[in-house]
Amino acid sequence: MLEFEEALALILAAMPPPVTEVVPLDRAHGRVLNETVVSAVDLPPFDNSAMDGYAVRAADVSSASPAGPVRLRPAGRVAAGETFSGEVVSGSCVRLFTGSPLPRGADAVVMQEDTRVETDKPQEIFILDAVKPGENVRVRGGDIKQGETVAEAGQVLTVGHICLLAATGRAELKVGRQPVVGLLATGSELREPGQSLGPGQIYESNRLGLAALLGRSGCVPKIFPLVADAPETVRGAFEAVLRECDAVVTSGGVSVGEMDFIKSAFEAIGGELQFWRVSIKPGRPFVFGRCRGKFLFGLPGNPVSALVTFVLLARPALLRWQGAVDVSPPRHPGVLAEPLANPGARRHFMRVRLDGSGKVFSAGLQASHVLSSLAAANGLVDVPPETHLPAGATVQVIQWDRG
Ligand code: AMP
Ligand code: MG
Repeated sequence: MLEFEEALALILAAMPPPVTEVVPLDRAHGRVLNETVVSAVDLPPFDNSAMDGYAVRAADVSSASPAGPVRLRPAGRVAAGETFSGEVVSGSCVRLFTGSPLPRGADAVVMQEDTRVETDKPQEIFILDAVKPGENVRVRGGDIKQGETVAEAGQVLTVGHICLLAATGRAELKVGRQPVVGLLATGSELREPGQSLGPGQIYESNRLGLAALLGRSGCVPKIFPLVADAPETVRGAFEAVLRECDAVVTSGGVSVGEMDFIKSAFEAIGGELQFWRVSIKPGRPFVFGRCRGKFLFGLPGNPVSALVTFVLLARPALLRWQGAVDVSPPRHPGVLAEPLANPGARRHFMRVRLDGSGKVFSAGLQASHVLSSLAAANGLVDVPPETHLPAGATVQVIQWDRG
């Protein structure tokens, strides 16, 4: 049985280089950047005003105060999007708005609130406060300089990246192609929600949760029909998925029982099993295989085991497939409000709830079929074997429903 890190390293090493495609920026959020982008422009592209106010020469208004205003002659008005052909000479000012280009000759902006206009003296602007050179001016290149790196290959594109890239004028980006991932749920006891249940039957609940997680990992999930526990049925299902998808995520049928057909069926269609079983709880009977350049992530059937192994072992791989560098799940530190104990010999990824103040509570029963605690949880804490983490201990909470 492999240790968790060994298993993850094997899986990541098996991922091929990403297949790059070009997408418009409005399709790029959450995708993995496959190029390092340098800015083609300075940002801001020109010196401009941070305020509604007046462009001045700072030296002209150094003595200004409410009691002793400096009077300047208005020489023009520049709205955002316009330019000023003249120059701000000593004793004059130009009306500006937020984003207006700073006219030649001016070196500062007095904000409107520090000025006064008297109705009977429209040819005078009363400046009530001094400004330092550069005050209220957003300088060209002060945010990003032309040639500066704005996003690195391997980053998952965030909202902030999208805004920055748009602001530097990028319309298209090279990103990793999104893997189409087929979802198979095996088990003759499974029925679709909405159907009626016969004796011994249960509703299938893994594919939808996994589809949601796939969507959050930049993948395109494809849900396939339920698969009964029969060798030829499982083989047929594999063939169908491998025809249409880049990877297959199965649940169920990977244990030691004679009704567990995932491994044998995968080998029967020419697949190669890389390993089976990882020393974690829940999720020990995880299997990883390859077939025709595509990948099998065989998750255990118990719903919590399926979700946990997906987050820990399949999600990183599918992100790496797209070219992501950092593929570890999002984590957030927290402080245990109650002890977490793992008397067992395997690492236990326990369901917890991290509250807004950073306190971490057990989410309830930890057995791998218990869905109420899965719904109550918003994260996992990795508790080492034979370890009792006391209340007050700082832990990292793995957050599966983010990122
Ligand atoms: P297996 O891994 O096939 O031995 O299944 C382990 C347990 O998980 C059994 O109790 C199954 O009924 C249950 N199970 C398997 N697949 C699913 C599924 N897709 N949805 C809900 N429960 C499942
Ligand atoms: Mg089963």
